[in-house]
Amino acid sequence: MNVFVTGGAGYIGSICVEELLNAGHAVTVYDNLTEGHRPAVDPRAEFVHGCLSDEAGLTRAVQASKAEAVMHFAANALVGESMVKPEKYFRNNVAWGLHLLEATRAAGIRKFVFSSTCATYGPPDRVPMTEDLPQHPINPYGESKLMFEKMLTWYQRLHGLEFVAFRYFNAAGASERFGEHHRVETHLIPNVLKVPLGQAAHCEIYGADYPTPDGTCIRDYIHIIDLAQAHILALAPGKQGFYNLGNGDGYSVRQVIQMCEQVTGKPITAVAKPPRPGDPPKLVAGAEKAIRELGWKPRYPKLEDIVTTAWRWHQRHPHGYPD
Ligand code: UDP
Repeated sequence: MNVFVTGGAGYIGSICVEELLNAGHAVTVYDNLTEGHRPAVDPRAEFVHGCLSDEAGLTRAVQASKAEAVMHFAANALVGESMVKPEKYFRNNVAWGLHLLEATRAAGIRKFVFSSTCATYGPPDRVPMTEDLPQHPINPYGESKLMFEKMLTWYQRLHGLEFVAFRYFNAAGASERFGEHHRVETHLIPNVLKVPLGQAAHCEIYGADYPTPDGTCIRDYIHIIDLAQAHILALAPGKQGFYNLGNGDGYSVRQVIQMCEQVTGKPITAVAKPPRPGDPPKLVAGAEKAIRELGWKPRYPKLEDIVTTAWRWHQRHPHGYPD
């Protein structure tokens, strides 16, 4: 298929693009490079440097790509920042996302795959979390993604758009060529790995008093290549709906730090800090629906493999991409 990918220069987008190309699809990447990096775009893809805010340019790029499907990764995705700048999240993720929905409709494209998040649920009543749980986000990031999910549902009902919205848990790890490089790094694994890389004296634990066994937040880490594979399965005709993507295993911040010590063979000093506003204590996926309905088979469910691939990439690219 021809696939139009927004945010294909970002962490998750770049590896999904790589896997799409490996699977024989043709890809056009549309990215404004505010979060993404030009060298993260697989050279086999077409690249259009553009912003979702430019509705006319976006519409032209979608038409020109002759796409049969759209994958929408471009977004701002930081819980903490969204608590300080909610307007940025509603503008970029919702208002400018609507430009993409309209461009998709104008081009007559029927298939849409969306990067949603477990942050749409808010603190869950039970874990593992299944897709039918009520959604009560506790930060504007999760709210903005939930608003886009709702727009998708209406586009499906009223315009016949076939969509798959993936609610990601914590994407981590790397492929051989592409990995995680944020200009301001806030994510746990890359921040912890800065210590064994010699770029930080210690890492920080945001909150050590949560109601969890060791007091730190529990998350479900999923390998980026497994995440990408689910997107490819979503392109099959007739696939639609909401799917969690996670492994069903929760690891605390302290357990992740221990795994980083084990994988790198270096001691890592951690300093407890106050909790980060907007962080729920425990998020763990129930992803049986994706396994059952999409035929998804995670290949790297072990945290050790996830951290090992991240470590390999960071060792080869200690300062990330060269831009
Ligand atoms: N976290 C931390 N120290 C860091 C970065 C993150 O303790 O340097 C915690 C964060 O509070 C959360 C978990 O690690 O409980 C995962 O955070 P991350 O930002 O990687 O992903 P999120 O769950 O926000 O999508």
